[in-house]
Amino acid sequence: MFCDLHMHSTASDGTHAPAELARLALAAGLGAIALTDHDTTAGLPACAAACAESGVAFVPGIELSADPGAIWTDIGQAPPERLGTLHILGYFIRHDEPGLQAIHRRLLDARAQRNPRIIANLQALGVEIAYDDVLELARAEGSRVVGRPHIAQVLLKKGYVKSIQDAFARYIGEGKAAYARTDLLPPREAIEAIHGTGGLASMAHPVQLRCHDDAAMDRAVVCLRSWGLDALETRHTDHTPAQVDRYGKLAARLGLLTTGGSDFHGERKPIGLGNQRVPMEVLDRLRAAAKAGG
Ligand SMILES: [Zn+2]
Ligand SMILES: [Zn+2]
Repeated sequence: MFCDLHMHSTASDGTHAPAELARLALAAGLGAIALTDHDTTAGLPACAAACAESGVAFVPGIELSADPGAIWTDIGQAPPERLGTLHILGYFIRHDEPGLQAIHRRLLDARAQRNPRIIANLQALGVEIAYDDVLELARAEGSRVVGRPHIAQVLLKKGYVKSIQDAFARYIGEGKAAYARTDLLPPREAIEAIHGTGGLASMAHPVQLRCHDDAAMDRAVVCLRSWGLDALETRHTDHTPAQVDRYGKLAARLGLLTTGGSDFHGERKPIGLGNQRVPMEVLDRLRAAAKAGG
């Protein structure tokens, strides 16, 4: 019997409701599933209830986006030309406990840090702008979320740009001089937040980190392990059989557990639920480690 430890519901960017995933898992003959929505646990209770009804074992999970740049900074290596993606999966998180609030708080904090970074970049370019100007304008408009459009309006008011579009094109659009990447958690905080809810942390789809070569990959995983990483997602739809083999050996060498899953998103991507045929023993080992406190 097999399990699938990586999938998304409508609570994040999947097309199936959390409860539907339980029925699909049963139809696919899976013994267990983990729901791992991006940055949210909103779908877990409904999926857990439907799994209990279907007789499919359920693992409460989450997938947190983290800052890949932190790894390259830590190991003192220039990042790859095209910075990759770093996602940290959390398993056996206690979603009904207040400890989880820590994750949400951290995510909100991370989001709140982006605007001041953009302002600092603008100031470094010689633009006379203060974050208070932006907050004041957002407050006057009754906006609850402060973002780049507000910064653009301040730039317009101060005469630095001719229009909102001009502000994005010249300063704050993606890749422009004052741009700051979207609000990503430092990986260490993502891992600690997962541990804080009694969960285990696994590095999702290592291939997406876009490491320069195998040696860089090894160093990156060693770095994440030093921050508390428990496992490596060896089986994933994006991995070739050779990569599954290589990541499995890397995990064994570093004393990390392994996880695996389809990364099913429903209709959005042509991926079959359960396509990775992850043996139940993988989950058994994970569960034992979670019980033992990581
Ligand atoms: Zn991912
Ligand atoms: Zn995913």
